[in-house]
Amino acid sequence: MKLRIFVTRKLDDSVIAPLREKFDVRMWESESESVPRDILLKEAAEADALWTVLADSVDRELFEIAPKLKVVSNLAVGYNNIDLEVAKERGVIVTNTPGVLTETTADLTFGLLLATARRLMEAENDIRTGNWTSWSPMGYTGMDVGGATLGIIGMGRIGEAVARRAKGFDMRVLYHNRSRKMDAEVEHGFEYVELDTLLKSVDYVVILAPYTPETAGLIGARELGMMKKTAVVINVARGGIVDETALYEALKNGDIWAAGLDVFATEPVPQDNPLLTLPNVTVLPHIGSASIKTRIEMMNLNAQAIMDVLEGREPANRVV
Ligand code: NAP
Repeated sequence: MKLRIFVTRKLDDSVIAPLREKFDVRMWESESESVPRDILLKEAAEADALWTVLADSVDRELFEIAPKLKVVSNLAVGYNNIDLEVAKERGVIVTNTPGVLTETTADLTFGLLLATARRLMEAENDIRTGNWTSWSPMGYTGMDVGGATLGIIGMGRIGEAVARRAKGFDMRVLYHNRSRKMDAEVEHGFEYVELDTLLKSVDYVVILAPYTPETAGLIGARELGMMKKTAVVINVARGGIVDETALYEALKNGDIWAAGLDVFATEPVPQDNPLLTLPNVTVLPHIGSASIKTRIEMMNLNAQAIMDVLEGREPANRVV
């Protein structure tokens, strides 16, 4: 009897093939739709390994009906969809895909920052819908990026890669973490500040911290109220870090200038999310790591980790 792997999204044959040679691989056959919960639970009950995506909730209920489960490998660096405490209790290994997506996600973050500051989506949309009627002296005017001050909340791998890009735009970089990054301070001149100081001082607030109980709702009405009226908020981390209702109010009332969001509290974002009604919000469908090369590298990390655990080796990128 071969050990069984359940893959919760349709993935390319090239990444699955090495696993098929040795294991019984079953796969949810849709690339864009999540596996329904009842099917996920049914498959998990028989699986030795699960290859999951962020939309899959790997919670106590799932762990408890999966007695053979040895490893959950998540196609993301974040793992807030997995209950790590229960995984630990039950001796299930959890792995993720850090590092290989750092530069790609930093590119997207900086692109979203530029697009939001200079109102690119709004301007493009006007051309496509026939609403570009004339060149206007103050039409589509936005905020300068070059020479401005950037504040990064969550100065980890991706945060630092964004900060390095900002140096090329002559930006001053402030950051807030729970711990200081002395090497980056010395090498690049990044400055550590307390959260409130960062919020009050910067032109761009970029959120790149993990979604944890500590960061849930970290940016709410109080924090938005401390920002400059010209501030731009960029969230590429997880939607739940920002209180979306407070963000909507701040944007609508002009308390801050604009926001660029790659992530939302509920994904896919519901069409009735009020943020979608605001012209000063630039939205993307969670595409931070979406380059062809990076996604394939992430998948290869997952495949290797699953193979390692099922063959009795210690996997790389073990979370618990
Ligand atoms: P990382 O290297 O672990 O960096 C996270 C940073 O956040 C660390 O420096 C950590 O430093 C800091 N941090 C943790 N808790 C904090 C808190 N309470 N307040 C302030 N800072 C805190 O992770 P990464 O690879 O850069 O990825 C960061 C996050 O980006 C991921 O967790 C994921 O959710 C998100 N992401 C999104 C996409 C996308 O497609 N949109 C793609 C990749 C990643 P301390 O421990 O010192 O606080």
